[in-house]
Amino acid sequence: MKIEANCETCGRTFLLSQIGSDSDAPGRCPFCGARFARHYASVLMEAVHDAEVAAARAVHALGRLQAMETGFQIDIEGVLSTLATQVRAHDVHESSTPRA
Ligand SMILES: [Zn+2]
Repeated sequence: MKIEANCETCGRTFLLSQIGSDSDAPGRCPFCGARFARHYASVLMEAVHDAEVAAARAVHALGRLQAMETGFQIDIEGVLSTLATQVRAHDVHESSTPRA
């Protein structure tokens, strides 16, 4: 699954795959060239790859359930809401100021 992100330097939106190890400028903004995760450069590529693989796996796993005649409905909105809450709990920028 393609995951979008916003550069904090230029504000442009890009795909995480555009900064991965296979990209033209690994670990850098494809628009302004800002270097991302300056202090974690060695693990950024792995973390980007992990995030995309995990997201794709989640979509596949939930889609597989959705395609079965299970007799129940997955609360997709709840999954997305919980995902957003739990991911934002890791945000070092927002931890002291709750998002409106
Ligand atoms: Zn940028």
